[in-house]
Amino acid sequence: MERPHNFSAGPCILPLEVFEKASQSVIDLDNSGLSILEISHRSTAFVGIIEKARELALQHLNLQDKGYKALFLQGGASMQFLMTAYNLLEKKAGYLDTGTWASNAIKEANNFGKTEVLASSKSSNYNYIPKDFLVPEGLDYLHYTSNNTIYGTQMKTFPKKENTPLVCDMSSDIFSRQLDYSQFDLIYAGAQKNMGPAGATLIVVKEDILGKVSRAIPSMMDYQLMIKKESMFNTPPVFSIYVSMLNLEWLSRNGGVPSIEKKNKAKADLIYSEIDRNPLFKGFTALEDRSMMNATFSLKDEQLGPKFDKLWKASHINGLNGHRSVGGYRASMYNALTLDSVKVLVDVMKNFEKTA
Ligand SMILES: *Cc1c(COP(=O)(O)O)cnc(C)c1O
Repeated sequence: MERPHNFSAGPCILPLEVFEKASQSVIDLDNSGLSILEISHRSTAFVGIIEKARELALQHLNLQDKGYKALFLQGGASMQFLMTAYNLLEKKAGYLDTGTWASNAIKEANNFGKTEVLASSKSSNYNYIPKDFLVPEGLDYLHYTSNNTIYGTQMKTFPKKENTPLVCDMSSDIFSRQLDYSQFDLIYAGAQKNMGPAGATLIVVKEDILGKVSRAIPSMMDYQLMIKKESMFNTPPVFSIYVSMLNLEWLSRNGGVPSIEKKNKAKADLIYSEIDRNPLFKGFTALEDRSMMNATFSLKDEQLGPKFDKLWKASHINGLNGHRSVGGYRASMYNALTLDSVKVLVDVMKNFEKTA
């Protein structure tokens, strides 16, 4: 069967070879005769898998031997909205409000202390990243969302303040581009956008920012305890961690983040140049804030929608509908999506121009 071109925003496409290996291991993990789904999480086999996953995560972010620990926990990025605040917020934290996920993070943090919204693009439906804001002294931490999955905006620079830990939700662009990841003190990402199947959440945290709040932290919420127990305080999401590990190995085999960034850039350049060229379409976001992962766009004449929808669906394109809060279309182009899939979409847009 021909596989569709999957532009889904998440859970999203992973490499076919990762799906193939994962499905084999559901029956027989590395000739052990046992399924990945039935072995103990404390078995040598699984301990090897989670160690490898941790090591690869740090390696791809260039954060090995720099005081960071990698954790694979449950609860998704949404759990990290509160877990970060639980562990780090004593008096006041600063947030940049760049979208639904950022504002959800602010809402959760308000349960633990004060938040200051340094800037917000809410009044223009989050179609840009605010840039000229001031970061005050004395914040417990500063929180950004690197890529706004729903709106298709992406931060290119990350204003910092000395001695203020920088926390970043990278759910939808982790492992997609080269950055100085050591500028961040805590990075979190739900697996299902660019790393693996839903279930695991990656947290990369610099150990020296922890242990500073005065409140008692429940065990399941406590980063320090999770580090001590190597993400195995309780049963971890075994399958999601396993497939994430396979996907991070795939990334290594394919030249790592520097090489995937080039491919991601080529995909993004292709779609955005068509959005800009084709008189029937318009982009949603400010040009300088365009995301390499999620391209949001719409038809200038919405009445043409049903006709365009029919065309892309006939070309085996999946998951192109925009999020309900933006409308239009969203082409999510995570690491495993090929340039060929983007070419198919661009050809559909070109053909549509001829026939509309
Ligand atoms: C999808 C997403 C979330 C929510 O992730 P869950 O794992 O479903 O909680 C948070 N932040 C960003 C940037 C996302 O894209």
